[in-house]
Amino acid sequence: MGPGLYIHVPFCARKCAYCAFFSRRAAPEVVAAWFAGIGRELETLPEGFAPESIFFGGGTPTALEETDLGRLLELVRERVDLGRVAEWTCEANPGTLTKRKAARLRAAGVNRLSLGAQSFDDETLRRLGRIHAAAETREAFAIARAAGFENIGLDVIYGVPGVSRESFRADVAAAMALQPEHISCYCLEIEDGTPFARAAAAGRLEISADDQRAQFDWARQRLAGGGWAHYEISNFAKAGRECRQNLLYWSGGEYVGIGPAAHSHWRGARWGNTAELPVWRREFEERLEPAAKACETLVMGLRRLAGWGREEFRAATGFDYDALRGTEIARLAAEGMLIAEGDRVWLAEDALFVSDSVFAELV
Ligand code: SF4
Repeated sequence: MGPGLYIHVPFCARKCAYCAFFSRRAAPEVVAAWFAGIGRELETLPEGFAPESIFFGGGTPTALEETDLGRLLELVRERVDLGRVAEWTCEANPGTLTKRKAARLRAAGVNRLSLGAQSFDDETLRRLGRIHAAAETREAFAIARAAGFENIGLDVIYGVPGVSRESFRADVAAAMALQPEHISCYCLEIEDGTPFARAAAAGRLEISADDQRAQFDWARQRLAGGGWAHYEISNFAKAGRECRQNLLYWSGGEYVGIGPAAHSHWRGARWGNTAELPVWRREFEERLEPAAKACETLVMGLRRLAGWGREEFRAATGFDYDALRGTEIARLAAEGMLIAEGDRVWLAEDALFVSDSVFAELV
C-alpha cells in the first residue's frame, strides 16, 4: 500500500469534555500562522512523494471558514502530487459542515467524509460537550450525500458514563439507519487534562467496564449483522470501504504528517511535531532498530481482525513473527488471547476488548 499524507487542522469551535487531541479556537491570526507553517512543511515533502491516500484530521477541518478551507485545498493542489490519490478523507463536525464547505471539498477531489456523530441522543451529546444536536448530524449527513460523497464514515462513542445500554443501542441503530459506508465505534477513554479526567478524579464519573464491554459486544454483533464487517478493533465497513489511510498505519506503511502534533514514518525514520501554535517544530526524530520496529508493526497489524499472514509480515518487516516473538505468541495463544493457525496469527474474540494488555506483552 502506497504512502499517505496527513494534515492536522488544529481548530475546534469548542473543546469537547473528553478530548485530548491538540486543538484551539480558530482565531484569524492563529489560522494565518498555521497556514504559513503548513505551507512551509508542504515544501519539504520527500522527493517524488505521491500519496495514495490523504487525510485531513484534527481538530476539526470544517471549523475553518469556507474561504480558508478553499485555501487549504488549493495549497494541497499546488504542492502535492495528486496523481495517485485513491482516497482523500476529511473529518467533519456536524455543527460546522455547511453545503458550501461540502461542495468545495468534493469539487477539490475529497472523496470520503468522516463525520463525528458520537451519539444521536441530545442529552449524551450535551454530556460529551459536543457543539451539535442529533438533528444536525442527520442534516450534515444529507448535505454530504447531496454534495456527492459516496463514502461517508460515522463515529459513535460507547461507554459514556450515565448513558444506558438502551440509549447506546439506539445510537448504533440511528447510525445504521443512515447507511454510511463506514462506522467507527470508539470506547470513551478518560484522557489526562480533560474535564472528564477531573470529574473522574473527583468521583463524579462512574465508568463501568461491564457496561462498556456489553455495549461493545452488542455493537459488534449488530453491525456485522447489518453488513458492516468488523475489520479493526473499533472499525466496521461495508465491503471495500475500509479506510485506506488507517489500514496504512496498521500495516506499518509510510506516511508524512504535516502540522502541529503530526507524526511521520518514512524510509525507516520516524519523527513528530510539537503540539504548539502558532509555531511548531520537530520534536523528535528517531531511527528504530529493525527488530523493535517489526515488533511495533506486529502489534499495529494485530489491530486488524485479519491479523497477520506470515508472508505479509515478512514482506512488511523482513522478519518472521515466530522468530521475533514466537514464545509470547505461543503463550498468548495458550491463554486464549491470540489464535495462531497455519501461517496466520490474529486476536481472539475475547482479546478484542482487552487488546492493549495483549499488545503490551508483544512489544
Ligand atoms: S470536535 Fe473532535 S477534535 Fe474537537 S474537541 Fe471535539 S472531539 Fe476533540
